[in-house]
Amino acid sequence: MFNSLELRDEIESVADHFRKGMTDEISGLVSFALSDLVNGPVYLDSDGEECSPFDEGAKAFDFSEAIAQIAAYLESVSDLVTHDFHSCDSCDGTGRDEYNEEDCAQCFGEGCCQYEETISGTREMIISAIVGKTLSEYVRG
Ligand SMILES: [Zn+2]
Repeated sequence: MFNSLELRDEIESVADHFRKGMTDEISGLVSFALSDLVNGPVYLDSDGEECSPFDEGAKAFDFSEAIAQIAAYLESVSDLVTHDFHSCDSCDGTGRDEYNEEDCAQCFGEGCCQYEETISGTREMIISAIVGKTLSEYVRG
């Protein structure tokens, strides 16, 4: 089982992968969208830089279009699943039935037949680590 520190490291390493994979365009959209949410409407000049709404050629930042593009980029983020393998409970991993020396009926002689899937990090947690909690609610899709 993962302790919470290892879990955080694992989520962080996936999040880091996605952060590094962002194009400049996407990472720009992330920061504009966050600024739009936190500070109010964002305006962009003809170079795509944030500017005053009174500047010539200033255009309102399209928040919902940005969210759609960020969400599309994050579409492949999935839950982090770990598999814990256990030796067979019935034969204690030997694969043999201790009474009649035949193959264990539970694991068919394999000795290891059971595994548990554990979700060690949800998609929600990972997306929150990539774009921050505030924006994550909008881009989870
Ligand atoms: Zn067994």
